[in-house]
Amino acid sequence: MSQTSTIYFYGGAGTVTGSNFLVDIGDTKILIDCGLSQGRHNAEEINWGPFPYEPGSIPFLFVTHAHIDHIGKIPKLVKDGFKGRIISTEATRALAEPLLLDSQELLAHDARKHNHEMLYDEHDIARAMELWEGVGYHQKVDLPSDCTAEFINSGHILGSALVRFERGGKNLVFTGDLGGGNSPLLPHAEVLEGAQYLVMESVYGDRVRGKDEDRRQLLEDTIENSVTRGGTLLIPAFSTERTQDLLFEIRTLMVEKRVPSVPVYIDSPLASKITAAFLAHPSYFSSDIQARIEGGENIFEFPELTFVETIEESKRVAGLPGPKIVIAGSGMSNGGRVHGYQKYILPDAKSTLLIVGYQSAGSLGRRLIEGEKNVFLMGEKTPVKCTVEAIYGYSAHMDGEQLLEFVNKTTPSLSQVFVVMGEPSSASFLVQRIRDYLGVKATAPETGEKVQIDF
Ligand SMILES: [Zn+2]
Repeated sequence: MSQTSTIYFYGGAGTVTGSNFLVDIGDTKILIDCGLSQGRHNAEEINWGPFPYEPGSIPFLFVTHAHIDHIGKIPKLVKDGFKGRIISTEATRALAEPLLLDSQELLAHDARKHNHEMLYDEHDIARAMELWEGVGYHQKVDLPSDCTAEFINSGHILGSALVRFERGGKNLVFTGDLGGGNSPLLPHAEVLEGAQYLVMESVYGDRVRGKDEDRRQLLEDTIENSVTRGGTLLIPAFSTERTQDLLFEIRTLMVEKRVPSVPVYIDSPLASKITAAFLAHPSYFSSDIQARIEGGENIFEFPELTFVETIEESKRVAGLPGPKIVIAGSGMSNGGRVHGYQKYILPDAKSTLLIVGYQSAGSLGRRLIEGEKNVFLMGEKTPVKCTVEAIYGYSAHMDGEQLLEFVNKTTPSLSQVFVVMGEPSSASFLVQRIRDYLGVKATAPETGEKVQIDF
C-alpha cells in the first residue's frame, strides 16, 4: 500500500537549536520536540512568535531528550492550546521538570529586561507535566493509521532517544541528538538498521573529536596545572549529563590519587536536582555503572565534594582563595551562578577557565576560546588574564566520522536522509559526505521547508 506523509521542518533546520518537526501522516499530526532557540540573533523573535501550526489541532508530541533546545517551548505549546499526549522516556520526563523551571526563570528575566510578556509560567509547566507520559526504551506506542512509535537509546544524555515511527513496514526515524559514546555513565547509542527516512542531527558534522584518553589526560593535566599555580579551576558546565560526567571523572581522579586532593564545589541548585534525578533512574545507566550502584557505590560522592545551594554560600565560595575546583551551572557561559566566579577568575593569571562543550557563535564561551582579551561582565570591562582551556571530548555528540558510520549501518534500506540541527556549514558538509561515500540521497532542509515522503 502506497501512502504519503509530509514532514515539516519548523525548527532546528539550518541551525543547531530550536528542534521542532511535524509529521502529517494523513489521519493525525505528530510533533517531534518543541525546543527553544538559543544564542541566535533572532532567537527572541522565534521563541516569542506564534507557532506556525495550530497547537490545539495536534494530538501527539514525542520528545527525544530533556535538553532545553528540544523541550523549552513545550509549556508555551500547552499555553497556546495543545491538549494532546506528550511522550518521552521516564528519565527524560524526570529531567524535564527541573530543567523547564530553571529555564522559565531565565526567560522571565529576559522578558522583564526586554519588556515583553512571559513566554510561560510555572502553571503552564505544571499543565505540561500532567499531559506528559514516560515510557521505557522499545516500549511500543500505538498511533492512528496503524502507525506505531518507539524510543531507541541514543546515548546522548540520560534517557535520550531516537524516535522511530513504523507504518506498513516502513520506518521514519528522528535521531534527536546522537551521543558519541564518550560518557563514562551512559550506554552507547544503539545501532539503527532498517530505516527508510532519517532526520538526523549534525552539530559536529564537519569535525573529528579527540580520543577519550586525550580528554581524560587533558582534564588531569588541567587540574594539576591549576592546583600547582594555586588558582581556581572554573568549569562552566551544562547542568545535564556533562556535570554528572565531569563529577564522576573528577571523583575517579581523586579516588585513584591521580590529582591532588583539593576542595571541589558544584555550584548549581539545578545540577543538584538533576544529579538526584539521575540516581532515581539507575536502569538508564550503562550496565557497568548499574552494577556498581547495585554493589552499594554512590557514584557522585567523595570527601572533597560540596554541593553549594544558597546564593550566600556561592558568594563565600567565589571569594575563597585557591587551589579549588568549581563546576558552576550555566548553559553556554551565559547566565547561572558562573557569573559570580568569572569576575574573580578571568582577571587572575593563576586561575583557569575550562570550557567543556559546544559554544555557539558569538557566545561568551566561544569568544574566550577565540582569545578575546577583554570582555564585558555585567556591564564592566574585564581583562582576561587567566588560562583558557577547552576540552571538546566532553561534547555529548557524535563527531563527523561517527555520524557517517551511523548512517552507513542503515544504508541498505535508506531512501533519504534529512540533515538538520547543525550550523549550515556542518550540515552541508555531512550531506555531501553521505551522498559521496554512501550514495544515499541527502539534503539539508531550511526552516519552514516541507517534504513529502512515501510513508
Ligand atoms: Zn541535546
